[in-house]
Amino acid sequence: MTPIPSVAPLILSLLLPSHQDESPPAHDTCGACDDRGWFACNRHDETEVELEANTRFCSYVAGCPDCRGTLEVDCSDCALGDRRVADARAEQDRWMEGMQEHWDRFHHDFPIGQSDHFLLFWSGDKITVKRERLSDHEAMHLYVERLEDLFERFKAVTAAEDDDFSTLFHVMVWKRFAHNRLASEHYTNQPNPNVTGTKRMGAVGIYTVHIDPSYVDPDESASADLYRAIVHNVTHLLLANVWDARWPGQLKGGWIDAGLAHYFEHVLHRRCTNFCYREQDTVATFKGGRWRAPVKKLANKRNRPSFVETATKKTTELTLEEHALVWSYCEFLIATDPKGFGEICKAIKRGESYRDALKEHFDLTPLTFEDAWKRHVKTFKD
Ligand SMILES: [Zn+2]
Ligand SMILES: [Zn+2]
Ligand SMILES: [Zn+2]
Ligand SMILES: [Zn+2]
Repeated sequence: MTPIPSVAPLILSLLLPSHQDESPPAHDTCGACDDRGWFACNRHDETEVELEANTRFCSYVAGCPDCRGTLEVDCSDCALGDRRVADARAEQDRWMEGMQEHWDRFHHDFPIGQSDHFLLFWSGDKITVKRERLSDHEAMHLYVERLEDLFERFKAVTAAEDDDFSTLFHVMVWKRFAHNRLASEHYTNQPNPNVTGTKRMGAVGIYTVHIDPSYVDPDESASADLYRAIVHNVTHLLLANVWDARWPGQLKGGWIDAGLAHYFEHVLHRRCTNFCYREQDTVATFKGGRWRAPVKKLANKRNRPSFVETATKKTTELTLEEHALVWSYCEFLIATDPKGFGEICKAIKRGESYRDALKEHFDLTPLTFEDAWKRHVKTFKD
């Protein structure tokens, strides 16, 4: 086969001015770096490089004296990568400067990571996850991965898209109660919180939480408990921001607000134990957080609240029993048609009734909903 001669050099020479520039020409070659213009920074081993893949910025590597977190060092034998490497370093440096105020506020350094949709402060120290001991840096990356995973799952069950969100979500995890109190005061505007976590929802999405071992169920680990609390609360942030930056919990949409937050808890551990407005209750959980069997029973109970009744309440008005019911309402709708469920959420967030979307996407009225939901609940195995 005859190789096709390239016309590119000819065109380039016609376009270039005739005088010689000082900088090396674009088609210069460099044997030292194989024309890449950079080398991998040798301060990071393979495991660490892998870890960095899920963040755009990580304070741990951005502090590297050789690469400033770009994981690349410029090739000194050529100018092929000069501009790009310099720009990437400047971007990392600017980000680190922006983060300094946070470390100053708490008078201590902790890993901060930023991915496509989240900024995560990890002041949670080392943790053990599934019997594996993780450093604070590794824990931060694990939670970035978990948050981005939740983000993708959220989009899948509401048919939302990346462009439908309008903020970089902030999540802050603290080992010390005093740090969480300061974060609550400063970032979520809730001074003296007497709960483990507080959040700010709507146009911004911020959740700060204290890892409190005294809250943890004896038959489970602190890390499982924390994971579920984050999943539950960040779901609130996502739903309150998506499409229009309005929190449905105060727009008679308590059932989708709490229901969806419990939905993701259940997907994770088949347990729902987070009640944002009921932490002070002596009954910390409803039926141990395992809700399939109790909901199956409730479905046949005559005096339980009806769907119509529950589906107009604010989140703060839901009873513990209703928390379990709204979980199953959302679970039923998502299992039937995620796009339709998303349309119901949109309508409620606009301050409208869910009825039209229920009719259009599920062919149900608020009354026929009950029977369809009961049939679904009957299929629960445990
Ligand atoms: Zn080179
Ligand atoms: Zn890192
Ligand atoms: Zn480096
Ligand atoms: Zn909640």
